[in-house]
Amino acid sequence: MVEHVVVIGAGVYGAAVAAALTRRGARVTVVDAGALAGGTSGATFSWVNSCGKRPRSYHDLNVAGMAAHRRLAADVPHGDWYHEGGNLEWAADDAGRAELRGKVAGVLDYGYDARWLSRAEALRLEPDMDPAGLPDDEIAYFPREGWIDPVRLIGHLLSSAVAGGAESVAHDGVTGLEVTAGMVRAVGLASGRRLLADAVVNCAGPQAAAIAELAGLVLPMRNTRGVLVSTSPAAVSPSRVIHSPHVHLRPDGGGRVLLHTHEIDGAARVSGTGEISVDPSAVGKVVEAGRALYPGLRAATVEGVRVGERPIPGDGLPVLGRVVALPNFHFAVSHSGATLSVHAGDLVAGEVLGEDHDEALAAFRFERPALAAR
Ligand SMILES: Cc1cc2nc3c(=O)[nH]c(=O)nc-3n(C[C@H](O)[C@H](O)[C@H](O)COP(=O)(O)OP(=O)(O)OC[C@H]3O[C@@H](n4cnc5c(N)ncnc54)[C@H](O)[C@@H]3O)c2cc1C
Repeated sequence: MVEHVVVIGAGVYGAAVAAALTRRGARVTVVDAGALAGGTSGATFSWVNSCGKRPRSYHDLNVAGMAAHRRLAADVPHGDWYHEGGNLEWAADDAGRAELRGKVAGVLDYGYDARWLSRAEALRLEPDMDPAGLPDDEIAYFPREGWIDPVRLIGHLLSSAVAGGAESVAHDGVTGLEVTAGMVRAVGLASGRRLLADAVVNCAGPQAAAIAELAGLVLPMRNTRGVLVSTSPAAVSPSRVIHSPHVHLRPDGGGRVLLHTHEIDGAARVSGTGEISVDPSAVGKVVEAGRALYPGLRAATVEGVRVGERPIPGDGLPVLGRVVALPNFHFAVSHSGATLSVHAGDLVAGEVLGEDHDEALAAFRFERPALAAR
């Protein structure tokens, strides 16, 4: 019988799994090598969506993730992490417009909510945008999408886990897993502490492969780095996710705006000693693109530049649930974790405690041939 579960990692996944396990009555210890929420979940764009995600099973999992956020936010009277304002997206050239038309047609075909807006309609939603930055029409609007503040979400999930009896341990990384007779029996921490475990859930995000290795498993990952620029507070009001051709942005709490482009991701550099820096000129370009779209950002300065590592399993899809060869070892690892973790974490927690979620998790098993092939 599963009584004590060790959850490795306290990002969105670890927090969601820990909360879902304690809600079901398990005794949980959630351990993190660093600060709680100090991993990728503290450096993410955290757009909640299933906008163009394929195959169908992955799209459906993301849609279920969106619904889980909506339910959780509705259940917690003063929860302040979930913002369902929709997402606006448009393109700058013919190729981009054709691609966007294809994406909109694809999601509509899946029964997902998407509409086309004119410039005037988009400006009614986002009046602080410079009209010159928008096309006359073909602005895609995905009204059920949104964004989360992942650190606030993790805070809520971990505090409800702790209120349910869980222990949370920060700054004490997992250094070993004791495996005998095809089961994980104990988890060793850097401090020398040894936690006996009936089950273990690997929620170590970008470091999930290293944890898998401690259990004798090979988890192929192809992580990438992303760079996010947070402005100082400014009296300008983007109130949803925006994907314009030259900048992606969303509110970032307290009047701040979070800016991103795919180009800036390439500006992160890692030195020989492991220090990460970002080319200041790339930061300047993103800020200029933000100011061009929202002139009110001219008064804002750069308050922070965050670099996050996307935990991307080898074939791009999540790795969720139990391992056949090590039945009390479970994975909860994916990109799009801001969207997926509340729902997928709940499925994984249920499976740890013996619930049957085989149908929902079938496409995301560790044993799928496509994962090993990468
Ligand atoms: C730039 C960027 C943009 C993104 N945009 C989006 C988006 O728009 N929408 C979306 O849904 N997703 C997005 N993502 C992805 C999403 O943020 C991640 O999927 C999610 O945060 C992963 O959460 P996690 O809990 O798995 O990992 P993490 O938050 O990294 O948590 C893992 C934890 O494990 C801990 N750990 C590692 N090794 C050990 C060890 N040995 N012992 C104990 N603890 C350990 C780490 O310290 C860390 O705290 C983005 C990611 C990035 C980087």
